[in-house]
Amino acid sequence: MAHNTEIVQAWVTSDPIVPLSSSVEHINYKNLKPEDKERVHQMVADQLGIERPQGYTVSFHYNPKVEQHHFGSKHPMKPWRLQLTKQLVFGYGLHYAMDLNESLPAEHRDLAEFHDNDYLNFLQYIKSDDQTQKRHQEELNRYVFTDEFNDCPIFDGIWDYVTLCTGATLEAAHALSSGESNIAISWSGGLHHAKKRQASGFCYVNDIVLAIQHLLQSYTRVLYIDIDVHHGDGVEAAFFNTDRVMTLSYHKYGEFFPGTGGPDDSGPKGFEEPGAYFSLNVPLEDGIDDSDYGWLFRKVTGKTIEVFKPEAIVLQCGADSLGGDRLGKFNLNIKAHGSCVEYVKSRNLPLLMLGGGGYTPRNVARTWCHETAVACNVQLGSDDGRASSIEIPNFVPYRAAFEGAGNGNGLLYPELNIRKLQHPKTYTREDLENTAARCLEQLRHIEGHPILNFTTFVPKLDKLLKARKELDVEIREELEDRGLQDELKRRRMERNTGGRREYR
Ligand SMILES: [Zn+2]
Repeated sequence: MAHNTEIVQAWVTSDPIVPLSSSVEHINYKNLKPEDKERVHQMVADQLGIERPQGYTVSFHYNPKVEQHHFGSKHPMKPWRLQLTKQLVFGYGLHYAMDLNESLPAEHRDLAEFHDNDYLNFLQYIKSDDQTQKRHQEELNRYVFTDEFNDCPIFDGIWDYVTLCTGATLEAAHALSSGESNIAISWSGGLHHAKKRQASGFCYVNDIVLAIQHLLQSYTRVLYIDIDVHHGDGVEAAFFNTDRVMTLSYHKYGEFFPGTGGPDDSGPKGFEEPGAYFSLNVPLEDGIDDSDYGWLFRKVTGKTIEVFKPEAIVLQCGADSLGGDRLGKFNLNIKAHGSCVEYVKSRNLPLLMLGGGGYTPRNVARTWCHETAVACNVQLGSDDGRASSIEIPNFVPYRAAFEGAGNGNGLLYPELNIRKLQHPKTYTREDLENTAARCLEQLRHIEGHPILNFTTFVPKLDKLLKARKELDVEIREELEDRGLQDELKRRRMERNTGGRREYR
């Protein structure tokens, strides 16, 4: 179709100085054939120089069906943020740098590795209509859904939602433990408040706990780091009595949900108790900014990694710690949040990156897109000061949602610490230094602990190579089966070894 060729052509010849504010508007893009859409993505990827990172593999685990779920129009948790994230990741062509996997929902028995069977049964049959609710009043009470402080609504499709979120995270964990990838991303996961038999803080099933349990089959010590504005209480509680998992949570503390994670919350009391000192909490005050947060994060995380010597790291990247969040109280910008990911990544350990909170959907999407780029070693925009003005591509379907002064003016990195959004700073430099000193003091208690001397075997290379070979054969067979002669499709599949389950 000549019309389509023109659009693609217009895109190619657009001003290279501002490569992403192209003339392909969403309205035109929408009418393109899938392969032409792919060509647009590929051109962006080529212009930004996006390719697979050297020496390691990043995998992206997601099922777009998760986007269709609704907690209710007034509820701050919007699964729509995941759709926005996906569109930005594709809009910048980042999918060319990763293995893409459309993950399958987890099964009941996977979830039962941590959760109570009766609670899971309840999640499976409960619905939002009055009749069902009346019939299951007793369970609703038992699982605290009727409590006035409960913020987890019962919505239709709840079981699909929890199994889709968990399926993506478990698949990501498996990609790490099998050696298929070095960094595995699951943005629909990170639901850190869910308990064994109770939903809490918009979380029904704790995909993080399940993923860490999976990783413990391959690694002796797993470090969990949580940069959500809320305390990672569900994960801490699940691994409270073990020294194989260290939990490190940075969060707002004091008259704030969930109320736990204070300075003295360090695990079971008494040195002889397993797990004593292996819960490390960094309570923070309102209004913390980029440089203070970054300073504290590097100081405490660096020492934790040095002392605990993890064999794998799980990083919950909750984006409600950003400035301007609907629920959060911090003043962080996107790149400062992302620099935590950068710091952890620089340790070159198997890394599971998860989502979490985040209640201004556009900024959540911006942040997780940026952090996907960090994982892939890609810099979006130049480093000459224009980096902050990089625009969201015109053809991104929800581009309009990012426009206007209130929505970041169409930029990928709008300033989030502007006066209008700023939370007043309620701490001093001395407070920060005291917090850091207390954390380092706690870490001294675990130095020399016997668990730190154990090591496991890394996944065997032959196992890894076999998996790769099987995948290659599968791709070739699929190409032959479908008679795909199209050069573009072949190239696309080659660029993404996970292409057989790729989603659009
Ligand atoms: Zn949160």
